[in-house]
Amino acid sequence: MTANISYPAGIGPGYRYLPRILLGCFVLLVLLLAATDRWMISLEISQTAERSVQRLGAYRTSLDTTINRHHYLPRILASDPRIVSALANDAGDNPGAEELMYLSVLLESINREAQSDQIFLMDTSGMTHWSSNYDSVHSFVGSNYSFRPYFSAAMAGQAGFYFAVGATSGEPGLFLSSPVYSDLGDILGVIVVKIDLRPLEQSWLASGDAVWVTDQEGIIFLSSSQRWQYHATRPLDELHLDQLAQTRQYGMSPVMELMRLEEWQGEQWQAFDLQDEGEQLAFASAIRDYPWQMHLRVPLSEIRYQVRIKQSLLLLLGVMLAGAMLYYRERHRRHEAQRALQQANEVLEQRVEERTRDLKEAQAALAQNQKLAALGRMSSAIAHEINQPITALRNYTASSRLLLERNSTDIVKQNLEKMDALTERLSALSRQLRIFSGKRNTGSAPASLHAPVYYALDVLQPRLDAVGIDCRVDLGEECWVLANAMMLEQILVNLLSNAIDALSDREDARIFIRLTQQDDSRVSLQIGDNGPGMDKELQSKVFEPFFTTKSVGEGMGLGLAISYSLAHDMGAELTVSSEPSKGTCFSLTFKAVMAQPFEASA
Ligand code: ADP
Repeated sequence: MTANISYPAGIGPGYRYLPRILLGCFVLLVLLLAATDRWMISLEISQTAERSVQRLGAYRTSLDTTINRHHYLPRILASDPRIVSALANDAGDNPGAEELMYLSVLLESINREAQSDQIFLMDTSGMTHWSSNYDSVHSFVGSNYSFRPYFSAAMAGQAGFYFAVGATSGEPGLFLSSPVYSDLGDILGVIVVKIDLRPLEQSWLASGDAVWVTDQEGIIFLSSSQRWQYHATRPLDELHLDQLAQTRQYGMSPVMELMRLEEWQGEQWQAFDLQDEGEQLAFASAIRDYPWQMHLRVPLSEIRYQVRIKQSLLLLLGVMLAGAMLYYRERHRRHEAQRALQQANEVLEQRVEERTRDLKEAQAALAQNQKLAALGRMSSAIAHEINQPITALRNYTASSRLLLERNSTDIVKQNLEKMDALTERLSALSRQLRIFSGKRNTGSAPASLHAPVYYALDVLQPRLDAVGIDCRVDLGEECWVLANAMMLEQILVNLLSNAIDALSDREDARIFIRLTQQDDSRVSLQIGDNGPGMDKELQSKVFEPFFTTKSVGEGMGLGLAISYSLAHDMGAELTVSSEPSKGTCFSLTFKAVMAQPFEASA
């Protein structure tokens, strides 16, 4: 299942497909790394070669120092008169045991002082007559080393320089030789200084590096690990093998050839499979002044490990880059989404503002219309209410004038009484209208809720009787509220009068007047009838001033509006509940109920 992410406008397809693009790039990177693996290993080998040559410098110096310390010794010893005379005597006749001993002791003390391995002196036949180890088990005295190249070199008048395993002692060492000349310039013999290089090997081993030194034929003769000593790093031809057997340079055991790894051979290095030590690279560096090469061994696995680290770092870098891009994309996306949301909000706010403005304008227009309509209704009702008595007054005035001319004063008197009644009606209308003219002083005081009910019933009894209404009053216990008794009476007369109007043409006409306790603090006076009732629309309009369903002259539509207004002024609430063809019930609810009036308790 794929999630459907919606991108706000402004986020291009590049952003949409970024995860897929990045995944593709990652796969490409992995493939690229796999394809360039061999190249990277070769590169790492080249870099390791450079570092190895630098490191080999220190080992080369240690070898140089060790050899140079003794390099001068054979030549100096060859000019020592004691050695020359010993050989000269030896050439004449055989030396005595005493003389043999004397020179060997001398050689031994020089050997000790010079810290060389051995010093020995041979005659021209290669026979050793004097040796620093004359008194040891492996004494060279009596051995003939004419087969050794360092002897032939010295006999040829050159300085001998030769590494070999001792033919007598079996201990390897570097043999430095020099011819010993007579005063006449004849070669009397050969002086040889053997240097032990094993301490040097041990110091290499201690340094933690694997170091080899190979001769010109590529045979390892010095090694930090004894295991690889006298192994050939390249194939040996028959001639050289014969030569080795003849000179016994590396002892009696045959020289073994290392297994070469052709895959990783290079100009500056060689690769070998050293069995349990694994695949190894030997980085070579030539040693100045000697026909040797020094090698630093590095496991191929170490180089592969370095390459893997670099590859992993590249992958990690790729992943981090991808992560950064995804993060940036997400941030950008959120920013865009927020901006889009903000824009949408702004548009919405603007629309709401426009709608509110339109609504206010419409409301204002409606209110204006309602006001004008109310004014119209009021004007026509007032005009009608006033016109009728004025016309009547005008008629009575005219007829009275005529009657006075005829001296019918009795009838004039009757007219005047009628005119008086008419003015009374006009003043009553004026009083009613004045209720709307401003805030009235309610003059609230503790008032009984029973008394105004009986007052209204009393006032309207003739009408109740005329219609034949069954009026049921259920007031219960007396109840006192903070109200204006006169206003209460007016409200109740209005409500009762309306109920009688509603029941005018009904046979089983009934009215009930109830006083009910709503809760601890609220009491409700209800006036109900079983008249025609009202629908919802009618109910919503009954409290509007000048709203009436009665025909002109019968109602002004002020009764409920006045009652509502009076109730409001007293802190009470006038509500209606009605159902068409079932009846109507008006409730006058007071919030502040009192147990008894203050006057009563005082
Ligand atoms: P008027 O009585 O002058 O019409 P009111 O303000 O007293 O004015 O009443 C307004 C209208 O409310 C009445 O015209 C009538 O339609 C309706 N009305 C009032 N009381 C009742 C009732 N008990 N039953 C049915 N309709 C009523």
